[in-house]
Amino acid sequence: MKKNITVLRGDGIGPEIVNEAIKVLDRVAEIYGHEFVYTDVLMGGCSIDKYGVPITEEGIEKCKSSDSVLLGAVGGPKWDNVEPSKRPEKALLRVRKELNLFANLRPTKLFKQVCEASPLKKEIVENGIDLLIVRELTGGIYFGKRSTSEVNGETVATDEMSYSYSEIERIGRVAFETAMKRNKKLASVDKANVLDSSRLWRKVMHELSKEYPEVEYTDALVDSTAMQLIKNPGQFDVIVTENMFGDILSDEASMLTGSLGMMPSASLSDTTLGMYEPIHGSAPDIAGLDIANPLGTILSAAMMLRYSFDMMKEADAIEQAVSDVLDAGYRTGDIMQEGMIRVGCKAMGDAVAAALR
Ligand code: NAD
Repeated sequence: MKKNITVLRGDGIGPEIVNEAIKVLDRVAEIYGHEFVYTDVLMGGCSIDKYGVPITEEGIEKCKSSDSVLLGAVGGPKWDNVEPSKRPEKALLRVRKELNLFANLRPTKLFKQVCEASPLKKEIVENGIDLLIVRELTGGIYFGKRSTSEVNGETVATDEMSYSYSEIERIGRVAFETAMKRNKKLASVDKANVLDSSRLWRKVMHELSKEYPEVEYTDALVDSTAMQLIKNPGQFDVIVTENMFGDILSDEASMLTGSLGMMPSASLSDTTLGMYEPIHGSAPDIAGLDIANPLGTILSAAMMLRYSFDMMKEADAIEQAVSDVLDAGYRTGDIMQEGMIRVGCKAMGDAVAAALR
């Protein structure tokens, strides 16, 4: 199969970690007989420096016309003081909007080989954590009307949270389909004991659940889910929730692993076009030192194969290669443990590419 991939290397460690993901993708192409064609587009600080904007219109068009987008990370102190409309993260929001990326998938997988990195007690995590949060990304309170006004002599600020039936239905469908590809277990998280938008959310999810009788479906309240994620994270498989709850819960879940550098993510649209990126930022403190952990980006590339290209075997092979490399004792500095083999970014990419079969 031939696939066109737009590559947004970005800033800081972005170019280094993306290089390693491409190294692994090229090896996949070689083994499985695919062709991946890469087109580079500048996004973030690097684009501000060259074009005065965080991404050009031409760059957006290239993303739209490709089969998938792979992103490193954007931003850094050099661009912290540029005017707000031109900041690096504006490009990220723009791409999400232009590509209609309404579903954010964030897996939290604690590889048993690095379970000591988890801040949770060993007895809670020793059986591993393997859950996936499906977060609605383009609706809810972050996109609602907001206002600040003077009422009876004091300042009042308001943020509106609204969801339509169809917005809930399309993210619900992504969640049920994702659950079907995993362990057929889905928890829908809301605050239906208080919020109208959550009551509609729950109603739509219940209706959808009838279409997916094989999926074991449960409702959960967001406050109790926040607690259960710490108490017994192993109980979850797929979680679906609205934008703000998902923002908070996915950050909480990613901390359960203690290894920011290893966490991938996917943002999906209602076509096969998606954007794939590690959850961490551009880590300017370690940029250019060849010490960044490329595994989050490599695992994001695996998600690209699974969700955009329907290449299940190939995605599984990358995830297995990462696990094998960890078994063999290879560690970048951020996940280093006593007795293990410390490697840099490039050497970690080489090891994963070599472990692929
Ligand atoms: P960060 O995630 O870049 O770094 C936090 C800490 O984790 C740093 O100590 C860093 O060295 C370390 N770290 C991150 N990724 C690592 C990796 N792969 N390997 C080893 N160590 C790693 O967060 P920050 O410092 O708050 O932000 C830095 C810049 O990144 C800011 O400009 C921020 O706006 C931007 N940012 C971008 C994105 C994105 O592009 N999606 C996301 C978050 C932050």
